[in-house]
Amino acid sequence: MRVDVVSIFPDYLAPLELSLPGKARAKGLLDVRVHDLRDWTHDRHRTVDDSPYGGGAGMVMKPEPWGEALDEVTAGSDPVIVFTTPSGEPFTQKVARELAAEEHLIFACGRYEGIDQRVIDHAGAWGRVREISLGDYVLNGGEVAALAVTEAVVRLLPGFMGNPDSLVEESHEDGLLEYPVYTKPAVWREHAVPDVLLGGNHRAIGEWRHEQRVRRTARRRPDLVAASALPDDTSLRLAQ
Ligand code: SAM
Repeated sequence: MRVDVVSIFPDYLAPLELSLPGKARAKGLLDVRVHDLRDWTHDRHRTVDDSPYGGGAGMVMKPEPWGEALDEVTAGSDPVIVFTTPSGEPFTQKVARELAAEEHLIFACGRYEGIDQRVIDHAGAWGRVREISLGDYVLNGGEVAALAVTEAVVRLLPGFMGNPDSLVEESHEDGLLEYPVYTKPAVWREHAVPDVLLGGNHRAIGEWRHEQRVRRTARRRPDLVAASALPDDTSLRLAQ
C-alpha cells in the first residue's frame, strides 16, 4: 500500500517511521511519502492560507497549493483521497477495513478553519473521496487523524500481523468490545485472575469470554448492542 500525507507540518508525521507503520515499511508492505504543502506555493512567504470570504474568524487554506499538490501526488494512480475533517463520516473499524483494501491512500491534512471547499468539490477528478472524522471533537489539524487512520489501516494489511488471529476477537471487529485480558502472576495485589482462565477448559473459556464481551459492550456501549445482531433485551439484561 502507498500512503501519501500532505500537511503544512510534515514533521508531525514522524511517528510513521516508528512502531507499527515503521515495521510495515521495513517489511515492504507500506510505502509512506510525507509532503510539505508549502512546496506547492510560489510566493516568498510560502502562503497557504487567506481570510474567509463572507468574513468570520480564522483563516482558510487556499485552493491553489492543494490543487497543485493533489495534481502531482495523484498522478498515474487511482487513489482514495481522505480529507480529515470533524464534519466527516466517523472513523470506525469498518472504514479501516475498507481503506485497508485500497492500494493508494492520500491524506489531506487541514489546518486553520479548514480547506477551501472547492478543493473537496473538485477532488473527484483525482480519485475517490472520503471525508473522515476521528471523533466528535475539534483538533488543531488533520495530522493526528491521518496518523490514527494509518495505524488502524496498516495493522489490517495482509502479512502485517505476526499472528493474524489476534485481529479476530478485537474490539469492534464484530460489533462487540473485547473481553478483559490477564497475564501472570495469577494474583496481583490481592486481585485474582478469574478461575475459569486457569482451568484449561477451552470451551468454558470461550463461553466466559463471549459473555464478558457482551456484558462489557452492554454496560459501556449500549449503542453497539443496539446495532448488533444480539437479542433486543440483551443490553437491559446484562447491564443489571
Ligand atoms: N473550523 C472547522 C470546523 O469547525 O469544522 C475545524 C477546523 S480544525 C481547527 C483544523 C483542521 O483539523 C481541520 O480542517 C481538520 O483537517 C482537522 N480536524 C480537526 N478535528 C478533526 C477531527 N475530529 N477529525 C479529523 N480531522 C480533524
